[in-house]
Amino acid sequence: MAVHRASAALDDRSLFAEYPFLPGADALLAGESVSVRSLLEEGAYESARALGRSRVRAAADDPRGSRDLDELARADPGVRFLSFLFARLVLSAAPTPTTLRRWAVAEAKRSYARLAAVPPEELIAVGRRLGFTLEEEGNGVAVPLVDYLHLATPIREAEFRLARQEVRSGRVRVGAVRAARLLQEAVRLRLTVPIPLSADVVESVRAREAELLDDVARRVPLPVARSPAAGGTIRPDRFPPCIRKMQRTLEHGENLSHSGRFCLASFLHRAGADEETIVDAYRGAPDFDESITRYQVEHITHRDAGRGYEPPECDTLRSHGLCVREGDPSAAVPADQRRDPLCFETFLRHPLQYYRLRGGVLVDRSEGSDEDGVTGRAAARGRSDAPGRSRSTDRQ
Ligand code: SF4
Repeated sequence: MAVHRASAALDDRSLFAEYPFLPGADALLAGESVSVRSLLEEGAYESARALGRSRVRAAADDPRGSRDLDELARADPGVRFLSFLFARLVLSAAPTPTTLRRWAVAEAKRSYARLAAVPPEELIAVGRRLGFTLEEEGNGVAVPLVDYLHLATPIREAEFRLARQEVRSGRVRVGAVRAARLLQEAVRLRLTVPIPLSADVVESVRAREAELLDDVARRVPLPVARSPAAGGTIRPDRFPPCIRKMQRTLEHGENLSHSGRFCLASFLHRAGADEETIVDAYRGAPDFDESITRYQVEHITHRDAGRGYEPPECDTLRSHGLCVREGDPSAAVPADQRRDPLCFETFLRHPLQYYRLRGGVLVDRSEGSDEDGVTGRAAARGRSDAPGRSRSTDRQ
C-alpha cells in the first residue's frame, strides 16, 4: 500500500526534474542554449548522455521500471532533464518503434512509483500540466469522464472498468493511487509518440549512437516469426481477422488488452502452436517480460491436462472491442483491410470455428489424446461447428 508523503508542494524546478515529460520542463535549461546537435556532440553534455544511455538500457532490460538508477537520483535536475531528452531523442530515431514504446512504459512506471506516494496536490498538479482537469474530492480525486475513458481503456486491470467506478455529474471519483495509475497511462501515451525529427537528424543520431541502438536492439526481445513447421500444423494465413489483428498489435510494439492476450494464447495453443511459439508472439509487447509471459502461457495451456483454456467466443470478443470483421483500415495487407464475409455468417460463433472452416486443423495435446493430432473431441467439435460452446472457460 502506498504511503502518502506529507511533503511541501514542489517548486517548478523540482517538479520538472521529477517529471521531465511535462510541458514547460525545458525551463530547467534557463540560461543555457542546448541544440540537438550540441546535446549529441558537445563534451559539456557527456554526463547527460551517459545518464540518458543508462535510462535507455535499464528500460530495455526491464520495462517495468523496477530497476533503480542510483545515478539518476543523484544527478543535478538539469542533467536529469537533459538525460531524459537525450534518451527520447535517440529512441525517436531508432529503426523500430518497439524500443521507444518499451522505454515509455519504463519511464511511466518510474513516474507512477512517485505519483502513488505524493500528496494529492502534486498528483493534481502533474495531471493538470498533462492536460487533465483533476480535482481533489474528499480523500480522492475526481477525473472528467472523457479523460477517465481515455486513460483507463488501455489498462488491463478489471477494477478500472467504468462499470466499477463511482460516476457523478460527469466525473469519476477514484482514490489517489488509482489516479496515479491513470497518470502513468497518460505519461506512457505521451512518451510513446516519437519526437518529429528531420531525416538528417535521424541519420546523425543513428550514426553517433549506433553502439547504443545495437545494444538495445539485442536486449529488447523482438517478435520472432517462426516457420509453420516449427508449430506443426499452424496455418497463420487462415487465422480469423481478430487473431491476425492481435498479432499485428504486438508485432508493432503496441499494447494488447488482457482479454486479447488471453484469447491469442488460448487460440494459438488450440491451433497447435508450441509454448515457445506462443511466447514469441508476445515479444513485441511494450511491457514484455519473458518469465511472466512463460508463467501465464503455461497457466493457459496446461489447464485441463494440457487441453488449455477455451478461447472466448465471437460475442465475447465483440463486447471487448476485439472483433475486426469490418476490416482493419490500418493493416498493411489489403486482405486485412476488407470486411470478412465469413465473420458475418449467422452460424459463425467462434474464432476456432472460423479457423477450421478456412482449412485450419485444431490440435489437442491433452493427456490421452493423439499427440499432435486431431483428437476425437476436436474432431467432434469440428463436426458440430460449435467450438467453445461446450462450456464457458473465458476467464478474464
Ligand atoms: S466474427 Fe468472430 S472470428 Fe470473425 S473477427 Fe469477429 S470475433 Fe473474430
